[in-house]
Amino acid sequence: MNIEDINTKSPIGSYRGAWVGYSLDEEIRKRAASGGVVTATLCYLIETGRVQGALVCSSQFEDGVFDFKLSIAQSRKELFEAQSSKYFDIPVLKGLDLVKSFDGKVAVVGLPSQINSLTRRMAKNEELRKKVGFRIALFCGHNSKKELIEHIWKKKGIDGRDIEQFRYRQGHWRGQMELTMKDGTLSRFPFQDFSHYQNLHILSLDRCLNCHDHMGYYSDLSTGDVWLHKMKVDPVKHSIFLARTSLAEEIIQKMKSSGLLEAKPVDRQFVYRSQKRSINYHYNLSARAMVGKWLGVKVKDRTKEKPKVRDLVAAFIVLLNHKISKSPRLLFWFMKIPKPILSVYLYLFKGLVNYERKNF
Ligand SMILES: Cc1cc2nc3c(=O)[nH]c(=O)nc-3n(C[C@H](O)[C@H](O)[C@H](O)COP(=O)(O)OP(=O)(O)OC[C@H]3O[C@@H](n4cnc5c(N)ncnc54)[C@H](O)[C@@H]3O)c2cc1C
Repeated sequence: MNIEDINTKSPIGSYRGAWVGYSLDEEIRKRAASGGVVTATLCYLIETGRVQGALVCSSQFEDGVFDFKLSIAQSRKELFEAQSSKYFDIPVLKGLDLVKSFDGKVAVVGLPSQINSLTRRMAKNEELRKKVGFRIALFCGHNSKKELIEHIWKKKGIDGRDIEQFRYRQGHWRGQMELTMKDGTLSRFPFQDFSHYQNLHILSLDRCLNCHDHMGYYSDLSTGDVWLHKMKVDPVKHSIFLARTSLAEEIIQKMKSSGLLEAKPVDRQFVYRSQKRSINYHYNLSARAMVGKWLGVKVKDRTKEKPKVRDLVAAFIVLLNHKISKSPRLLFWFMKIPKPILSVYLYLFKGLVNYERKNF
């Protein structure tokens, strides 16, 4: 494997096939963040003996503290428990110790930056190369600190110690946050009550400012949501997925012909459009590097874009919000902004990055 041959010079990168679709197993879709393609693929890989386990992550409460758990899932039940997206920093590669001591091959699911690091380690380590049978990257705009969700609970008057189980996203389109309380009651809130802050990069991770890998250049299979208006009215939540290696292409074709996956081929423009706004912001390291110089935030320009004024304003909003997050006093006041005003701020940001790129 020659890492340097992997194309990172365009937002989407190289791939062999792209599809839009979903798992045909309703049980999988019930708990999925998107169309359940990740879990359907992991089930297929394990059930056909291509791997014996999958390194996945779940969230949990331990002594009232919200945290993550890494594990090697070997059954449907264990894969289902790890479903849905967790929008906080989970050091997936710490699970490589579990992978090394596991008896068999493993598929790994992670964010693009994690799959990038994993692939670099695999290139240098034959033992790891033999152990990791498949790499799945989730599309990722950026990730957040755990404090963000804790602020949201606090805003809603919820004490983390009273929560038994939490899911960031459940259900159609953006979905809902779902909390199961220790007294057995179930609460649901619009995911937007969290995602407005997340999309504005409040309490986002520092390292995400320097990343331009939105779609997992280094994975076998990468997948995310289809953010197109026509999907909002479709009763089934879809995923978009890219096979970047021949292995992934073969697996998708086999899953499709076995009736496990709905998979309609789509062209490169469809892939871009499904993530247009995020890509326009995320790939433009140049805009963040320029604005970063004025605001004293170090960002290395590795994409050499020619930012438009609107890109610079969008980068300014992100870096400003990132700075606000670092000051407890400013953050306190930011969290008090009424939702309608916050929505206007977010739509301004979205409007700035809502344009058609020429190359993708
Ligand atoms: C922080 C974050 C940012 C994202 N940003 C975007 C985006 O900008 N655009 C977009 O289209 N999609 C984004 N996604 C991906 C999207 O939310 C879904 O995770 C993806 O479409 C897979 O859905 P699924 O139904 O196939 O997976 P499911 O069947 O629900 O399975 C999800 C799998 O993802 C793994 N997982 C969940 N959270 C994490 C995590 N934090 N780190 C590592 N592994 C994890 C679980 O172990 C599980 O195996 C993001 C996800 C995360 C976690």
